Amino acid sequence: MEPAMYNGSCCDIISWFEDVSENASCVQMQTLRRILQLNFAVEYLKKWIGEVNFEDMEDSALESLYTSLVPLASHADFEPYVQRIADGEKAPLITQEPITTLSLSSGTTEGRQKYVPFTCHSSKTTLQIFKLAAAYRSRIYPIKEGGRILEFIYSSKQFKTKGGIKVGTATTHYYASEEFKTKQHQTKSYICSPEEVISSGDYKQTTYCHLLLGLYFYDQVEFIASTFAFSIIQSFVSFEEFWKEICNDIRDGTLSSNITIPSVRKAVLDIISVPNPCLAKRVQSKCVELEEMDWFGVIPKLWPNAKYVYSIMTGSMQPYLTKLRHYAGDLPLVSADYGSTESWIGVNVDPCCPPEKVSFAVVPTFSYFEFIPLNRSENEDIGNSAIDDFVEDDPVPLSQVKIGKQYEIVLTTFTGLYRYRLGDVVEVVGFHRNTPKLNFICRRKLILTVNIDKNTENDLQLVVEKGSQILRKSRAELVDFTSHAEVGKNPGHYIIYWEIKGEVEERVLEECCREMDASFVDHGYVVSRRRNSIGPLELCIVEKGTFKKILENFIANGAALSQFKTPRCTTNQVPKNSMKNIK
Ligand code: AMP
Repeated sequence: MEPAMYNGSCCDIISWFEDVSENASCVQMQTLRRILQLNFAVEYLKKWIGEVNFEDMEDSALESLYTSLVPLASHADFEPYVQRIADGEKAPLITQEPITTLSLSSGTTEGRQKYVPFTCHSSKTTLQIFKLAAAYRSRIYPIKEGGRILEFIYSSKQFKTKGGIKVGTATTHYYASEEFKTKQHQTKSYICSPEEVISSGDYKQTTYCHLLLGLYFYDQVEFIASTFAFSIIQSFVSFEEFWKEICNDIRDGTLSSNITIPSVRKAVLDIISVPNPCLAKRVQSKCVELEEMDWFGVIPKLWPNAKYVYSIMTGSMQPYLTKLRHYAGDLPLVSADYGSTESWIGVNVDPCCPPEKVSFAVVPTFSYFEFIPLNRSENEDIGNSAIDDFVEDDPVPLSQVKIGKQYEIVLTTFTGLYRYRLGDVVEVVGFHRNTPKLNFICRRKLILTVNIDKNTENDLQLVVEKGSQILRKSRAELVDFTSHAEVGKNPGHYIIYWEIKGEVEERVLEECCREMDASFVDHGYVVSRRRNSIGPLELCIVEKGTFKKILENFIANGAALSQFKTPRCTTNQVPKNSMKNIK
């Protein structure tokens, strides 16, 4: 067993976490030692550390030797190894135990999906963080034992590589694992939908059934959840369309003919086949009222016993908060934990904190974490040569991070990634005992740059939020957005694409456009706009349904709705007749 791993028997999970966070620095060194003990002989590590014997070394000597011998790496450095695993090579390449499963990252932040190793450790840590987060939540928002969760979760398609390795998204592997069932038993909360619904492979049919079953069990539902907030929004937007059909199904004990997958039909009909006109009438009358109120507060109105809405609401999910609050009415929004396909990172220990302020306490047993200090460059001339606006210092261990500083996270995992740059920028905002609490800032990758300007997804989000405040005053709503740096023309300029619900006058859109252009705080952009070496920002209003098509395109290519994040920059040409340009 790993040294500080929670084994579920000695004490409750919160005491365990308090203990490992108290001793975070020491636990981190034990975690590194354990990873190296398990995997010292693998091909990747041998290349860097040769025959060095770590066994008799003191913890701190081991830590400094490891970081001096093994270089920082990116996904590209592991790709050849992962490819050999995918091709069926069984030799110990990055882990001693052969890897039989690979995860596909969402790919919406990097532009393409990456293969990432997945082992039983991945499922175990997922179970642990879910139990830990549930324990912290239930201190503030206790829920009834044996209650249900209306959880909008979706498995992706799974396939095998030519070497026989199973591939799917990390959430898909988890939903198929024993740990997923164990979590339901141990947290004494059960999802409303059977496994056939989660893994139907057709997200529209899954959404319909989640909502139907959620309403069928309405009085048992203790909270509403999804992995990322986007799926909750997506589900309720659909509900506005097909609620009448759901009512018919509840009334008659039938299932819409749009649900065509036989295994899903059988599994759902096994549950709902007794007609329930009383419930149908209740849902119907509430939905008629809700329609009048533009569906404000639909969640508490239809699920009166729900205590909160739980999902990742930070980072690229933040733009959906307005809509989520609209649907959630007076229910608290609880922001879910921080992790990636590569490793879980931190848990939300303050569930009552609003999503805009939430931070994540690093779980020091999950991986060995390092932090690359990032300093904002003061020097204007650093411009073109630097990859972004940050100047890096040498990576530091968890014990040496400082409050108020920003870092890029580096992972050494139990799944065969060594000093792997995750590409996420976080800020240390405090400590939980001795483990840092992180605010997620953004992906490090730049999405908008024409010349010396440098803007990340977060910069774009802040600017779009300013513009959409003006939009909201005119009673229209921003559905979703993306952007493009147009460098083909001289001067280049930014294009922001908006999909809007409701009618807006042209002059309001012009005001939104001017406001966004003036709201970029990046020094390079401000100077370039002043000198006119970047032209005025262009706002393009795209046809209704455009972002749904983007989602469908990603899903058709193997992404799962559970992990979907709208790409915030695009190089795709939008047909001129399907949009309106505002300058
Ligand atoms: P994936 O490609 O699905 O592995 O996505 C992982 C990425 O999603 C992370 O590297 C982060 O950029 C982002 N992410 C995950 N959890 C959170 C969170 N709680 N808040 C903000 N961003 C998150």
